[in-house]
Amino acid sequence: MSDLPQLLSVAAARDRILEHFQPLEAEELPLSHCAGRVLARDLAAPHDLPPFGNSSMDGYAVRAAEVSAAATDRPVALPVSGDIPAGGGLPPALAIGTAARIMTGAPLPPGADAVVPVEDTDESRDRAGRPLPARVAIFRPAAGGANVRPVGQDVRAGEIVAPASTVLGPASIGVLAALGYSVLPVFRRPRVAVFSTGDELRAIEEPLEPGQIHDSNSHALAAAVAACGAEAVRLGVARDQLESVRGRLAEARAAGAQLILSSAGVSVGAYDVVKAAVEAEGGLRFWRVRMRPGKPLAFGHVGGVPFFGLPGNPVSALITFEVFVRPAILKLAGRRAWGRLALQAELLESLPSDGRETYMRVIVEERAGRYVARAAGDQGSAVMSTLVRANGLLVLPEGLTEARAGQQFSVWLLDGAEIAASAV
Ligand code: AMP
Ligand code: MG
Repeated sequence: MSDLPQLLSVAAARDRILEHFQPLEAEELPLSHCAGRVLARDLAAPHDLPPFGNSSMDGYAVRAAEVSAAATDRPVALPVSGDIPAGGGLPPALAIGTAARIMTGAPLPPGADAVVPVEDTDESRDRAGRPLPARVAIFRPAAGGANVRPVGQDVRAGEIVAPASTVLGPASIGVLAALGYSVLPVFRRPRVAVFSTGDELRAIEEPLEPGQIHDSNSHALAAAVAACGAEAVRLGVARDQLESVRGRLAEARAAGAQLILSSAGVSVGAYDVVKAAVEAEGGLRFWRVRMRPGKPLAFGHVGGVPFFGLPGNPVSALITFEVFVRPAILKLAGRRAWGRLALQAELLESLPSDGRETYMRVIVEERAGRYVARAAGDQGSAVMSTLVRANGLLVLPEGLTEARAGQQFSVWLLDGAEIAASAV
């Protein structure tokens, strides 16, 4: 570990990486295709929402002052002067001394300032299509404005309802649809080429000979790319030969990728040719970071396209993806923040550390209103099942020689993480 001080810290490496990424250009897409996409411009409301004052209940539109004396034993009876369904156009003004039947979402007639719910009247509510009564008895007063949704209650015309960089989810898609946006400006989705390197690797469809393993990294990394909202292009496996790796890099560029990921072959092994291939096709900016797992991480460019050479060990590949590649993809995708949601948890066991910033696979649980974390299993960088079990990555800061039970650490929550309540 004597070379550690010369290596970049995690934070310095991430800063150097992120300098090389800018959001992609925007495109226009039908709103129905925009779920999960990132908005490229601030969008303002073209009109008020709701666009007209309307009723929030099925009932009777009234003048509040005319029903203020209503009581169960002394109801106020009013002639019914109109019937206002939702979608029936703008109703005429409410005649003085009358009530108009009104449905939820129907425009309030001019002159009315409150709606008495049908439950507070003598109108039977037994079936749809019932006739309009000639008179209605009202059993309870309604305050001015009661059960009325005023124009612009939700959004005022001109207000920014969705700022640039919003990830379009159900709520933002819903409000933009309510405002009549049929097409949205969104950032293009990053296209990320992914390949593996290693003579021991076989495609998952191929049988294994002794000494061979299936290529899992290209699948795991493609899934990680997709989870960032980007498009993964899997290019399969390169041999541990310079020309083979150069060939994949050329394919990645031909595929129009804005980012290239490889795994393995970046360490100090006799057959680790990835760094040489990247130097031949472009240039390396740095190699190796003071972190665990994942010290051998190469970053550079190939024909102007940013390139990450991730470590080969499957857990190291996914954790370096989390720490460096995910933020880069989110920045390309137009997001403004790229940190994981994190919480503070108490470590339940003491663990040694070698001083590198360490990302431990943990299981976080809630215990009596606090979060507690324990190792999800063997922390070896080839032990994928521990990452399958984990719901978080606990970050041991640089310089620590031991993490003691009872100390608080920050835990990044992984995609789909669920936090169980612990019985203890
Ligand atoms: P390397 O970086 O080439 O020394 O690889 C480190 C370890 O990761 C070795 O045990 C490799 O067999 C393993 N490995 C490399 N690439 C993959 C891959 N695509 N899928 C699964 N394991 C891999
Ligand atoms: Mg190898």
